[in-house]
Amino acid sequence: MIVDSYTPTKPSYECPGCGYRDHATSDPLCPDCGGQLSNIAVARE
Ligand SMILES: [Zn+2]
Repeated sequence: MIVDSYTPTKPSYECPGCGYRDHATSDPLCPDCGGQLSNIAVARE
């Protein structure tokens, strides 16, 4: 069986320009400034 150990409800993308956050991954573009969102979900090492 598969168990998700992380919470998908938390935003995994963040705009380095204005700080906008979104959890949608289909189109990781900031709707506020149009910048490309950075994946912050890989901070776990
Ligand atoms: Zn932005």
